[in-house]
Amino acid sequence: MSTPQSATLTLACELIARDSTTPDDAGCQQLIGQRLAACGFQLEPMRFGEVDNLWARRGSAQPVLCFAGHTDVVPTGPLERWDTAPFQPVIRDGMLYGRGAADMKGSLAAMVVAIERFVAAHPAHRGSIALLITSDEEGPATEGTVKVVETLVARNEQVDWCIVGEPSSTELVGDVVKNGRRGSLNARLLVKGRQGHVAYPHLARNPIHLAAPALAELADEVWDQGNAFFPPTSFQISNIHSGTGATNVVPGELEALINFRFSTESTVEGLQERVCDILDRHGLDYELQWTLSGLPFLTEPGELLDGVAAAIRQVTGRETQPSTSGGTSDGRFIATMGTQVVELGPVNATIHQLNEHVSASDLDTLTEIYFTTLQRLLA
Ligand SMILES: [Zn+2]
Repeated sequence: MSTPQSATLTLACELIARDSTTPDDAGCQQLIGQRLAACGFQLEPMRFGEVDNLWARRGSAQPVLCFAGHTDVVPTGPLERWDTAPFQPVIRDGMLYGRGAADMKGSLAAMVVAIERFVAAHPAHRGSIALLITSDEEGPATEGTVKVVETLVARNEQVDWCIVGEPSSTELVGDVVKNGRRGSLNARLLVKGRQGHVAYPHLARNPIHLAAPALAELADEVWDQGNAFFPPTSFQISNIHSGTGATNVVPGELEALINFRFSTESTVEGLQERVCDILDRHGLDYELQWTLSGLPFLTEPGELLDGVAAAIRQVTGRETQPSTSGGTSDGRFIATMGTQVVELGPVNATIHQLNEHVSASDLDTLTEIYFTTLQRLLA
């Protein structure tokens, strides 16, 4: 293993060396906590179920700038297909390899080192700095950030700004930040027919024939036009199943799984109503079970987005592109507190893949961007 060049890379390697496959934390939060305690943070470990979370704060005044992230990583997949062991970090050709290098132990290391440098330079900074770390982001995400947020809300502890370290960049660090995410709404649709013999269709009701035009109409529907920050809401049928396997049987029912990724132009209730209208218009006998995975959130230009964009410009010369694309993240829970939330992290090209890696120098650049953001907002 080559010698890491910087404090950020050293800490990133120490974190990657711990096998914190979700929901395990494997001591990562203790390591981060020690570093923060040494520069004046109050630590509040919060364990819910089998999930370790850490809330750490330096200062008691507003505004609160919080860094958020996760120590858990996705499973490695087949070990023999990794060029080097996933929990033995190695820097090769300027790239740091290891599970979690990009998602998101590199960001955690950059946050800690940026905070240490900022506190050393500005021991009497204004407001407060906080860290919210969970080991349940890659898993069900039910005992992690959402529970910490509930705890903060219950005691009226407010977070003004939050930077989530998710790997937001596409080609160069800082080229894209996420200033919101679409909502995600799922449903299981069951269309009922009557089973029978294919040769006697008048004695049966074929749910495939009944559902097909309705599903086609749902797939064609324009749900909204999106807005300046969001692409139009999308509807997808992800699974469809009907039939007994026999060629001579009209099936009794059809099941379909559907998903909306929705913008702030649509509401959960509005989408549900319009789906029912279409199914009703086709005279279907059906049941719908809805599951909401996350509401959309949006951080409009303001102190945080402007501060982050200015820091990226100052450090890299790049004009960052705010975006709301991609899957959901823990930002959706933090935004419910009225917090301005921006996701800013390294390039996401290899996240969750075999041979996950990140540019080593990008992690140093990211440290510089976090440090400059702290200076702009709290110095
Ligand atoms: Zn992540």
